[in-house]
Amino acid sequence: MKAARAKTPRRPALKKASPPGPKDPVGVYCRVRPLSCPDQECCIEVINESTVQIHPPDGYRIFRNGEYRETQYSFKEVFGTLVAQKELFDVVAKPLVEDLIRGKNGLLFTYGVTGSGKTHTMTGSPGDGGLLPRCLAMIFNSIGPFQAKRFVFKLDDKNGVDVQCEVDALLERQKRDATPVPKTSGNRRQVDPEFADMINVQDHCKVEEVDEDNVYSVFVSYIEIYNNYIYDLLEETSFDLIKPKPPQSKMLREDQNHNMYVMGCTEVEVKSTEEAFEVFWKGQKKRRIANTQLNRESSRSHGVFMIKLAQAPLDADGDNVLQEREQITLSQLSLVDLAGSERTNRTKAEGNRLREAGNINQSLMTLRTCIEVLRENQKYGTNKMVPYRDSKLTHLFKNYFDGEGKVRMIVCVNPKAEDYEESLQVMRFAEMTQEVEVARPVDRPLCGLTPGRRFRNQAFREELARKLEIRGGPINEETEEQSASEILLQNFPPLPSCELLDINDDQTLPKLIEVLEERHKLRQKLSEEFARNVLTFRTALRELDSNIMSKENYVQGKLSEKEKIITGQKAELEHLEKKIKTLEYKVEILEKTATIYEEDKRHLQQELESKSQKLQRQVSDKRRLEARLQGMVAETTTKWEKECERRVAAKQLEMQNKLWVKDEKLKQLKAIVTESKSEKPERPSRERDREKPIQRSVSPPPVPVPNSQRLVSNQQVHRRSNSCSSISVASCVMEWEQKTPSHKHTGGNSKTRTRQQEPGQSRDCNTSDRRRGMCWTGITEVPKRRDELEIEEDQCCRGDVFKTRGGGQAVQFTEIETLKQESPTGRKRRSSPSNADPPEDAADSEWTDVETRCSVAVEMRAGSTLGPGYQHHAQPKRRKP
Ligand code: ADP
Ligand code: MG
Repeated sequence: MKAARAKTPRRPALKKASPPGPKDPVGVYCRVRPLSCPDQECCIEVINESTVQIHPPDGYRIFRNGEYRETQYSFKEVFGTLVAQKELFDVVAKPLVEDLIRGKNGLLFTYGVTGSGKTHTMTGSPGDGGLLPRCLAMIFNSIGPFQAKRFVFKLDDKNGVDVQCEVDALLERQKRDATPVPKTSGNRRQVDPEFADMINVQDHCKVEEVDEDNVYSVFVSYIEIYNNYIYDLLEETSFDLIKPKPPQSKMLREDQNHNMYVMGCTEVEVKSTEEAFEVFWKGQKKRRIANTQLNRESSRSHGVFMIKLAQAPLDADGDNVLQEREQITLSQLSLVDLAGSERTNRTKAEGNRLREAGNINQSLMTLRTCIEVLRENQKYGTNKMVPYRDSKLTHLFKNYFDGEGKVRMIVCVNPKAEDYEESLQVMRFAEMTQEVEVARPVDRPLCGLTPGRRFRNQAFREELARKLEIRGGPINEETEEQSASEILLQNFPPLPSCELLDINDDQTLPKLIEVLEERHKLRQKLSEEFARNVLTFRTALRELDSNIMSKENYVQGKLSEKEKIITGQKAELEHLEKKIKTLEYKVEILEKTATIYEEDKRHLQQELESKSQKLQRQVSDKRRLEARLQGMVAETTTKWEKECERRVAAKQLEMQNKLWVKDEKLKQLKAIVTESKSEKPERPSRERDREKPIQRSVSPPPVPVPNSQRLVSNQQVHRRSNSCSSISVASCVMEWEQKTPSHKHTGGNSKTRTRQQEPGQSRDCNTSDRRRGMCWTGITEVPKRRDELEIEEDQCCRGDVFKTRGGGQAVQFTEIETLKQESPTGRKRRSSPSNADPPEDAADSEWTDVETRCSVAVEMRAGSTLGPGYQHHAQPKRRKP
């Protein structure tokens, strides 16, 4: 059978741009190693599980201008001096191994100054295995029972992997066994005691959920990058101790998937942790020898240990590997122990060594530059070219940064004072590295075959063996490596040399014939055994067939039963689907209706809002109007109340006066009557009347009114309206009498100035009074004698008194009121047309005296606030002399 030569599609072809999808930052961890001597000065402290603090050593301050700065650096996790290898492995490397088994790539490197513990971390020390042996142990713990036989997977020299059929693999295995070249044992009992305690990993940690229907094979390779050259540490070369030849360097190549690989690099298939570590140890030894023999600075090279895991699914029977190229996955985990990151001058390198150191630094510098550019590109979206090609180290791992995979870095630091400056550099670089992101690897697609194939096949085999045992047939005791035929093949006598160098050689051919005959016999034996086996197998197969037939019948019955159920369920499903469709249609309609209603609702809400706004406006308008109207009503009410009160008071007074006049008349009448009765009635002369003090009956005191009312009446005196057509004499007399003292007091033309105060208003309201135009009012009387005998006319000037700015007072005349008075000596009395009682006067002329004394003439100018003018015939003293 021909082997299916399948190229592993490791990763999709990479384009220039990094692949889309989720990305993870480079995981950077920090490990602080313990001081070699406890007395040493320490300049690094672990602050917490993710922060370290570095401070300059004591002497450092003196040299650097007294500058003293403590710097803190944060990493994904910081491991202190007491942290064990296992703890570190669990956090840092375990996820990488898990990824490897799931077909994803990973890169783990240790970075730091020489002596900071890089090798200790990666490889470990005797009795304390590092990450590398632990990774190997975990891999084999996980895939152990599912490993493919040796040579089933075959790596080609172009970074691809082939899968071979069993026969080809078997032949290759035989060839390998026949070669005299020392091979790794793969046997646990033969572990080299040199490293036995390094791989004695007790914790059997393994990956959960390993795909058991896959077969796996592990390949390891170990290269060294020294002086920007790649050397294969596993290459079998004869080493000339006397005149050592420089080792041949290897070339870097890019495969069809743009992945980098070392061309012609030895890749050893390993089947156990011990075997894998043995291979590594061999490489490590070679590295050490090269260092000593070629006078190289140790720890000046980068060691790259690569673990490749090939996996392919089992076929449908669960028996052999599926011979399909698309189904093979090759994942890789690279463990890199970088060279010391210190500067050249520190190691005092000379000549050749300086060049080496320079190159080493150059490659680390390139790594730094690449990381920086990557970070910049990712952070700012720039598209600068990353100089991967500037060094072999970066060129080899460019796919990890450009493509996908998990990248982790362990920064190793030695807290001793001498390393302070170098450690600072290391920390800075490491912190920056964390900002670089790498595309997360995607899960590989499933093969599409039924899971559980391996166990079904195993169960079948066991069953078969049991059956054969019962029948007494040969038990298939074939083990992986030790089948009967294999043993036979191994025991074939080796062919002697077939070269006939001498014509007389009569030994070679007979020897060959002998060996061939022997082989022929063995072959016959094998053929017989094979025929026997075939027979047994055929019988077993037939039996199995019949067994299967009966089982099939049973299964068929069950199947038809199930089919019936399925048909019923299908019908039900159809019915439900129809129902769903109807409901969906209904839902659609309802949704549409709901949308329409929503629209309506929105419109109506808008309308409502606008209307409510309008209403609010109207309400506020109304309120304003109401307030205004209320104000007006209140004003008008007060005005009218005052007016009414004034009129009532005036009417009261008038009525009282009338009453009083009538009383007076009655009294006089009575006196006349009594006089005429007692003596001859004599008409009293006016002269006498004048001489005699007038015996006036005292008018009744004004009706007691409340304070406010009185004030109202006072006000009325000055705020008389034209409508006030009649007013009693008594009121005028009273008013006049009230004013008289002030007349006397002021004398002359200046008249009393009284502050007119509105009822209920305090004197503090001066300002507001003035504002309203209710100012000091005064009456200025300017008497003018026109006719001494008959008519006296008084002019009262009325005006407002203002307070001037200078503090004085100013009078502004507003109107003139004329008071007319008829001379008492006049023969005729001019009665005012507005006389209150003209009919009485006209009718009763005989009461002239009384009239003379009491009659009233009211004259009033339009707009006068003083009230009706008055004449008092009996009081000439009002006139000025
Ligand atoms: P590097 O590889 O960085 O040059 P090494 O790993 O060779 O440094 O370490 C130098 C020495 O320090 C070794 O002897 C190693 O055993 C010791 N060492 C380093 N790290 C630790 C640690 N974490 N615990 C104990 N010893 C350590
Ligand atoms: Mg080292």
